[in-house]
Amino acid sequence: MSTDFNCTQCGQCCHNLNIPLTVNEAKAWLLRGHKLKILTEAIPWINDTPLTDDVLIRKKTMTFEGSSGKLNIRILMTLVGYFTHGCPNLDSNQRCTIYESRPLTCRIYPFEMNPKIILNPKNKLCPDAAWKTTSEDTGLITGNQLFMVDHDTQVNINKIYTQSISDVEDKKIICQSLGIKTTSLSNNGYLFHLVDPVKLLNILKTITPSIKADSQERTEMIDWVIYTQKEETLNDLISVGSHASIPDQYKSDQEEYIPL
Ligand code: SF4
Ligand code: SF4
Repeated sequence: MSTDFNCTQCGQCCHNLNIPLTVNEAKAWLLRGHKLKILTEAIPWINDTPLTDDVLIRKKTMTFEGSSGKLNIRILMTLVGYFTHGCPNLDSNQRCTIYESRPLTCRIYPFEMNPKIILNPKNKLCPDAAWKTTSEDTGLITGNQLFMVDHDTQVNINKIYTQSISDVEDKKIICQSLGIKTTSLSNNGYLFHLVDPVKLLNILKTITPSIKADSQERTEMIDWVIYTQKEETLNDLISVGSHASIPDQYKSDQEEYIPL
C-alpha cells in the first residue's frame, strides 16, 4: 500500500490540541503567556535491562530514573502546551502568528514522533481530502510509517527525539523543583499536573549547566506514587512493593487524571 498526504491547510490541528513541547519551546510558550501542563508516566524497569532493541533504547534515553517504594521505574515527563478551542497563537484569520518558530510537534502533524506507533488517519483531525491512499479498503497505514514521511518532516521527527534526550535532566529538575511526586502508569492512564506558569518559568530560567551537573551527581530519587484506576493493576503494583493508589478524584486544582 502506498499512502500520500497533502495538508489542506484546514487549520483543524490548531484547535483543541495538546502540544508536546521541548524545554526551550516550553519557555517560549510560557513567555507568550500561554498555559502549560506536565504529563508524568511511569515505566516499571528492571535495572541493568539489556537494551536489546530500539523500543528499550527509546524508553531509557527519554526518561529519568525513579522509584515507587521497592519498584524501580523510569519517568517519562512531557511538557504540554494546551488550550481549548483555538490555539492562542492564531490570529483572527486563523493564521499561525509564530509560523516560522512554531513548535516541532506542529511541524510534524499528523505524523507520529514514535516510529512504533502506526499512523491511523482516523485518529487525526485532517479531512479525508488530505489523505490519498491507493488502498481500496482501510485507509489505515500499516507497516513502518517512517517510509512515507517526507524528508523535512523526518528531520523534525529526529529533532524531537534528539531534543527529548537532551531535555531529560532539565525535566527531572523541574519535577524536583515543583515537588511533583505522582504519576500515571504508562499505557494505563494520563496524569497531568496543572502547574503555576510563573513558577515554572522561573524554574526554567534558573536551570544552568552547573545545576544540571549537580543534579546528575545526586543519587537520591523521587519516591513516586503511581495512580491507576484499575483494581487489578493496583493490587499487582502493591504486591511488588510499589506505592500505588487509586486517585481520590480525577480532577483537582493541581492534577487531572484521565483513565485509559
Ligand atoms: S503554534 Fe501555530 S501551528 Fe501550532 S497549533 Fe498554534 S497556531 Fe497551530
Ligand atoms: S489538520 Fe491536517 S490537513 Fe488540516 S491543517 Fe492540520 S495538518 Fe493540514
